Amino acid sequence: MDNYFITFEKARRLLKENLFTLDSIKISVKDAISYILAEDIHSPIDLPPFTNSAMDGYAVRFGISSLVGEIKTKCRGCIYATFHIQKREIKAGDYKRIELKPGEAVKVFTGSPLPLNTDAVVMKEFTEVRNNVLYVKKRIKKGENIRFKGEEIKKGDKVLKKGTYLNPAGIGFLSTMGIKEVKVIRKPKVYVIITGNELVEPGKKLREGKIYDANSFSLYSALKSAGIKKIKIKRIKDEFEKIKKEFYKALEFADIIIFSGGISVGDYDFVRDLMEKERVKTVFYKVKQKPGKPLYFGIFPLGEGGQGDSYKKLIFALPGNPASVLVCFYEYVYPAIRALSGFKDIFLPEREFILLRDIKKKTDRLWFLKGKIKNKGVIPLDFQESHMLSSFAKADCLIVAPRNRKLLKKGEKVKVHILPQSI
Ligand code: AMP
Ligand code: MG
Repeated sequence: MDNYFITFEKARRLLKENLFTLDSIKISVKDAISYILAEDIHSPIDLPPFTNSAMDGYAVRFGISSLVGEIKTKCRGCIYATFHIQKREIKAGDYKRIELKPGEAVKVFTGSPLPLNTDAVVMKEFTEVRNNVLYVKKRIKKGENIRFKGEEIKKGDKVLKKGTYLNPAGIGFLSTMGIKEVKVIRKPKVYVIITGNELVEPGKKLREGKIYDANSFSLYSALKSAGIKKIKIKRIKDEFEKIKKEFYKALEFADIIIFSGGISVGDYDFVRDLMEKERVKTVFYKVKQKPGKPLYFGIFPLGEGGQGDSYKKLIFALPGNPASVLVCFYEYVYPAIRALSGFKDIFLPEREFILLRDIKKKTDRLWFLKGKIKNKGVIPLDFQESHMLSSFAKADCLIVAPRNRKLLKKGEKVKVHILPQSI
C-alpha cells in the first residue's frame, strides 16, 4: 500500500493536497462570526452617511473679518472668541435644516448632524455661556471635531475582500453599512463515531473492566470551539455491522467523518477493514509519530464524483487513546476544518521556544509532548502517555520533538504548536 507508515511531514503534505474549500451560503450578519467571506463587500452608503459632530459642544461659523468669531476680548492672557448662540439645538438623530450666519453658534452633541456651513465644533469643556453669548477659551482650527460625510468610505468602495475572516468588529462594520446578510463559506458538518465495548457514559455506574468515554466529549468540545455548528456524535460497540450502519448514516449527513478507536491492529478494530470495503480512497495510513501512530485519513468516494469538491467527504480514523485522539485532532482534523471553512493558514501556529527541561525520547518517531509556555521557554509536562489526559488538560501547546533524536537538552530551541483557546 502507498503512503503507509509515513513521516509527519509527508502526512501533512498529503493532507493539504487533499483539502478544498466548501461551497458558500447566505447567512444573517448577526450569525456570521468566525466565518470567511465568500464575496467582496462594496459599501452601499457613504461612511459617515452625513457630516456630524465628533463631540458634545457647539457648531460654530467663523466671522467674516477674522478666522474666529466677531468679538475678541482679552482675559487673563487668553483670547476669547465669542459667538451668538442660536436658540435651537441639534440632538443626535435630529434632522433640522439650520443655517449658521457668520459669528453664530448652535448647541450640538456627539453624532448630531451639523449645519451646512459649520466651520468647526468646539468642545463644551472649552466654552462658557453668558446671556446667549458663547465664549470660547481656545484657538479653534477649521474643521476640528467634524466627522465629514464619506471621509472613511465612499458609496461603492470595496471595503472587505472575499476571504476575510469575520471578527466581531467585522460584524459591526457590515452593520454600520446597513448590510443584513452576507455570503460566507459554510462550515463543515461533522459526524463522530465513537467505538469501544468498554465505554460508559459519565454519570453512569462504572463496572469492572469499563472506562468512562472521554473522546465523545473532548471531540465535541474541540469541534464546537473550532466553530462547527452541526455535530453528531454516536457511541457504538466494536461490531463490524454496527460500525458500517453508522458509517452510512455519517455519509448522508457529514462533510467530515471522524472515527474514534478501532483503527489499530486488534481483532476488534474494524474501521480499516470497513474503509477498504466501502470505496474510500486511502490517502495515508499510519504515521511515524507518537501518539497517534495508527492514524488513518481517507476520502469518499474513491473515483471522481459530481462537480467541484464539496460533495467529497473526508474520513479520519483516530486511535482511541484520549491523548492520541486530541493530538490527531489538532494536527490533522483541525487544519482540515479550517481549509474546508475557507481559511488559508490552516495549521496550528508554529513558534520556537527554549526547552526548560530535558526530553528523553523513548521512540525514533516524532513525538508530540504536551507543554506549557513560560515566558520564552516551554516545559514538557508530566504524564505524557497517550492514555493520560491530565497533562493535556493543563497544556497550551504541543512540543514537537523531532524524529531520530534521542535526547533534547534543556536550553535548546524546540518547535512548538500553539493550541487554540476558546473562551
Ligand atoms: P483503540 O484505539 O480502540 O484500540 O483504543 C485504544 C485505547 O483507548 C484503549 O485503551 C481504549 O479503552 C481507549 N479508548 C478508546 N476510546 C475511548 C474513549 N472514547 N474514551 C476513553 N478511552 C478510550
Ligand atoms: Mg477500541
